[in-house]
This record gives sequence, structure tokens and C-alpha cells, in this order.
Amino acid sequence: MTPKSRRAWEWIVWGTLFVVVTTVLHNARTEIEQVHVVIVFLLLVLGASAGGERALGFSVAVAGFLAINYFFQSPFDTFAVAKSLDWTVLLAFLATAMVATDLLAQARAESEIARRHADEIERLSAEVRHTEALREASRLKDVLLASVSHDLRTPLTAIRALAQNVSLGAGDVPRQAGSIVEQTDRLSRMVADLLDLSRLRAGMFSVNPEFNTAEDLLGATLNQFARDGERERIRAEIDYSSPMLAGKFDFVQSLRILSNLVDNALRYSPGESTVTIKIGPHGSMLRFKVIDQGIGVAPTERKRIFEPFYRPSGSPPDAGRLGLGLAIARELAVTQQGSVEYSEGESGGSVFILDLPIAFAGTEELNSSQ
Ligand code: ADP
Repeated sequence: MTPKSRRAWEWIVWGTLFVVVTTVLHNARTEIEQVHVVIVFLLLVLGASAGGERALGFSVAVAGFLAINYFFQSPFDTFAVAKSLDWTVLLAFLATAMVATDLLAQARAESEIARRHADEIERLSAEVRHTEALREASRLKDVLLASVSHDLRTPLTAIRALAQNVSLGAGDVPRQAGSIVEQTDRLSRMVADLLDLSRLRAGMFSVNPEFNTAEDLLGATLNQFARDGERERIRAEIDYSSPMLAGKFDFVQSLRILSNLVDNALRYSPGESTVTIKIGPHGSMLRFKVIDQGIGVAPTERKRIFEPFYRPSGSPPDAGRLGLGLAIARELAVTQQGSVEYSEGESGGSVFILDLPIAFAGTEELNSSQ
């Protein structure tokens, strides 16, 4: 309905209502008092002012004034006024009706202005969000280009030099061939990480949450470090006071998350220090805490370390990593209705908390103390 036809409808509806009310009151005018008539017409004016425009309210007020005078004040059916008190009633009605109409119209106009402001604010903030998203996308693209060109070129340069030597039969050929395999593995790991992150971001990475025990995930994680001789540095604490700790998570991808957190903890803390994995229930989550005694993360960097390609200033130079580990870990956890968060360690190191949906919630929660 157009605003014009809506306005026409309002006039028709309130005009008809006015005629009906006046007729009903007119038929009963010998039994009712003037005060009742005035109240009914005032209600009519208020209704018309609230439901329609200012002119409609004023028109019903004037029509009410005339109807009261003509039909309901003696002498009936004339515009003459016999008693001066009747004038007071008529003027009081008109003044009240006009003021109420004006106030309602003002309130409606103000609420309309407020609504327009709210719409404008919403539109502007959507624009800001859009611009920010574009800026972030452009920043990520720049970082990606810089990172990819730098980090992927390093192993490629090494592979080229090694391959050249091997083809000339120079140096220790078997060792150089082994290095080529190593560098190629590193390269394909980086490319795989890049692909995974872009699939995760696009919602095209499928996970398979199943019933798994915390103990199995812990065992598989520890096995990952058995070869590197780092296993002795890792201590595991499982909260056995609660019933069997199990969750609903993708085993392979959760292993990837936990291994990444443990790997970081080992790499960013002194060689002789211990890394502790604490496991316990936490509300509806199964909580894995990876606690190290390392350098920790500065408060200003704690959010940013989860951004792709981000390396805090002063962090060790490229060690064959793109800075994608935590970004992928978080995305993988979120895809399974879990989370990965940073929390400061008591002795200055880092605590990374992986939460995964629990299958059977225990009664006790993992103690917040480490
Ligand atoms: P990378 O593969 O480069 O280590 P990550 O995404 O795994 O990338 O980590 C991003 C950054 O977060 C790292 O460069 C490092 O500075 C910081 N970081 C991650 N884990 C730890 C930790 N346990 N202690 C201190 N700093 C950490």
C-alpha cells in the first residue's frame, strides 16, 4: 500500500468511526451525561492522533467540538450555547484534544527521526564492517604474497642448488639427495597448510567428529614426539577423578591441533624445560592444556598469533614455517565446535587451551591452577 492510499484509508476509517460513535451517543443522549460524551470523543481524538497524521487528529478534534455542541448540549440540534459552563466544557475539550494531538504527533515525528538515525547508523556500521573486511582481506593478500614468495623460495633455492651439485656429482651426493627430499617435504607441508587454511576459511574442509577418548588422543600425540627424542620433556596429567574422559571430535584433526600446540611449546621453551599436557573436563568441554616454561607471548601479540602468517617481532627467523600452525589449529577446533585460546602461564610461559566437545561430562572440572 502506498503512503498516499494508506493516508486515505486512515481518513475513511476514522471518519466512519466518528459517525458511528456520534450516532450511538446521539441515540443515548437522554440517558448519558455530557462528561461521558466528552470522554468518548477525547478517546476518539487520541486514537486518530496515534494511528494517523496530525491533520487527522486536529480534524477529529474540531469535528468532536462541533458534535458535542450541536448534538449533546442544550438546546439540542443547534450551535447555540445556553450555559456559560458549556463553553468551558467545549473549550476544555478542544484544548485537551489539540494539545494531545500535537504531543502525539511530535512523539511520532521524533521516533521517526530516531528510527532514521538508527537505520543510518546501521548502514554506516555495515559499510565500516565491509571496508574493514576488505582491508583485512587486502592485508592478508599482501602478507600471503610476501610470505609465499619469501618462505617458499627459500626451500626452492636450496633444492635448486643441491640438485645442481648432485647433477654435477659434486660433494656428498647421497647426503645432498637426502636434503633435497627434506626440503621438498618441507615445501609440500607448507603448500598443504596453505590449502588447508583456505579450505577451512571457505568452509570446505570436512571433519568427522566421532566418539574418542582423551587417553587415545594423548597417546597418539606423545607418539608423534617419540622419534625426535623430545618425549622425555613432555609430562601428561589426566584427571582420573572423573568418569572416562571422552569427547566427540575428529581424531586425526584433533591430533594435528594438539601436536601443533605441543610442538610449539617445545620449540618456544628452553631445551631442558618440561612441557605439561593437562587433561580434564571443563563444563561441556574436554579441556587439553599445553603448558610450557618458555618465553611466553607478549600481551599485545596474544590475539595476533592466531592470525595466518603472523610472527611476533623478535621471534626466531624462518625455521621452515609460515606462521599458519595456530591459525589452522584454531580453525580446526572451531569447525568441531571447540576452541583454541591462549592464557598466560603462572611462571611466565604460555598455556594454550584446546577445548573439544565432551561426550560424557564428568563432575569435576580441570583445576584452573596449572
Ligand atoms: P609457526 O608455525 O611460525 O610457529 P604458529 O602459528 O604455530 O606459527 O605460531 C605463531 C607464533 O606464535 C609463533 O611465531 C610464535 O611467535 C608464537 N607462539 C606459538 N606458540 C608459542 C609458545 N608456546 N610460546 C611462545 N610463543 C608461541
